[in-house]
Amino acid sequence: MNKRILVTGGAGFLGSHLIDRLIEQGHDVICLDNFFTGAKENIRHLLGNPNFELMRWDVTDPFKVEVDQIYNLACPASPVHYQFNAIKTVKTSVMGAINCLGLAKRVQARVFQASTSEVYGDPEVHPQVESYRGSVNPIGIRACYDEGKRVSETLFFDYHRQNGVDIRVVRIFNTYGPRMHPGDGRVVSNFIVQALRGDNITVYGDGSQTRSFCYVDDLVEGFLRMMNCEDFVGPVNLGNPGEFTILQLAEAVIRLTGSKSKIINEPLPQDDPLQRKPDISLAREKLSWEPKVPLEEGLKKSIHYFDKLLKES
Ligand code: NAD
Ligand code: UDP
Repeated sequence: MNKRILVTGGAGFLGSHLIDRLIEQGHDVICLDNFFTGAKENIRHLLGNPNFELMRWDVTDPFKVEVDQIYNLACPASPVHYQFNAIKTVKTSVMGAINCLGLAKRVQARVFQASTSEVYGDPEVHPQVESYRGSVNPIGIRACYDEGKRVSETLFFDYHRQNGVDIRVVRIFNTYGPRMHPGDGRVVSNFIVQALRGDNITVYGDGSQTRSFCYVDDLVEGFLRMMNCEDFVGPVNLGNPGEFTILQLAEAVIRLTGSKSKIINEPLPQDDPLQRKPDISLAREKLSWEPKVPLEEGLKKSIHYFDKLLKES
């Protein structure tokens, strides 16, 4: 059935892929974005489509639209960007959540929160399960993002308990793919762009810290299953359980690009988590979801995208 759907942060990396799927399914989509880290390029192909509307707006300011579903994705996701204006990042998470929840309450829409593996901080439990409460430094340089997302989860569950708002909460682990901004600062885009340009590959620390990388198409499938499942509000981990060290990622990118770039080490940023890997048993059980795209295949698709982008610019 055709629905009216609001996607905040819809001009960003994940939001634009999500909107493509929603439009393909025949829904009417409103994209709300202030273009802080998003790009017109990500949604240019949709401008003029009668099922698509673009709203340049800041999610921290209240908005009124009539919709059936709301996906709240507005928030810078790369440490470089969320630390650029840390106070604004907290406001975006907290006030953005309040505005989406208030709207959902008024129009009785189902509302979805893009939370993050960062709620687990530098985890003592490995792999991370949803019941783990996390280890976050509340006064560190990542706290604006981690604590902002933790409060937004609190707000989602309080609106659910107190006002009966129909919520869905996912905790997203590192996701990559086409439409990441080349200057985004996250590790996959950094390494691919560095390798394609023949620049040094900047491994922070000794590269032994681990991450688990999910290809964007797999993640968006998980979003849709979660939003449309009837009896489960979350939180649920969505990510690829394959775990790699950052050094292994650098070596894979060099091999797949055939680059002559050298690996150099730079200081490890403060509070950088040592390891991260999702336990996705709950997503498997409740959503019959698991990622399908192996790292090497996803990297090849991403390399193809960045190669074309760099040649055109
Ligand atoms: P992104 O930076 O590409 O997209 C974020 C979008 O939100 C951008 O279009 C940006 O312009 C917009 N935005 C930022 N602040 C806003 C504001 N105040 N008002 C309106 N729009 C605003 O990042 P992404 O990777 O697409 O992430 C999307 C969501 O998923 C974020 O909430 C992020 O925290 C979450 N997430 C992403 C990952 C990942 O690996 N990509 C991991 C965990 C969580
Ligand atoms: N990283 C790196 N080189 C870079 C960018 C990131 O070694 O050019 C490391 C970073 O220190 C972290 C990991 O890669 O350990 C993932 O970083 P990213 O910013 O992509 O996401 P995070 O999971 O830290 O939020």
